[in-house]
Amino acid sequence: MAYRVGIGFDIHRLVEDRTLVLAGVRVPFEKGLLGHSDGDVVVHALCDAILGALARDDIGSRYPDTAEFTRGMNSMLMLEEIAKELGPTHEIINMDINCICEKPRLSPFRDAMVNSLARACRIEPERISVKFRTHEGLGPIGSSEAIAAQAVVLLRELDS
Ligand code: MG
Repeated sequence: MAYRVGIGFDIHRLVEDRTLVLAGVRVPFEKGLLGHSDGDVVVHALCDAILGALARDDIGSRYPDTAEFTRGMNSMLMLEEIAKELGPTHEIINMDINCICEKPRLSPFRDAMVNSLARACRIEPERISVKFRTHEGLGPIGSSEAIAAQAVVLLRELDS
């Protein structure tokens, strides 16, 4: 029985006049994440973790920020497409995510984020952990200039 692990990381700048979307959930805040797509840093880290576990490419090459089709794109569509690729060959055992964000406070949105990711990946919410931590006021994340995310995914190869 083969297991495969993948890791993903992403960071986006927080700017005014953007909607803050994390794990596909709109979070009310005075700023949002800058990006060619919707800037969903949690989903980007998670997509890269899945692709990493499969030893495939990364979302940067798949959804380039220079392409017209990715402009303003809902990142949940990227996750749905990538999760679909697991298809009959792999199943997700679990995924564990850190979102590093000074403001706003995200814990009230945890369940909505877990459920949103579970729907996109077609797995039970019990297989998904989303954790939040601040950066203790240090650096660009600590001064709310950016939000970062880390993701780890464990896959199991299915018998064919
Ligand atoms: Mg990104």
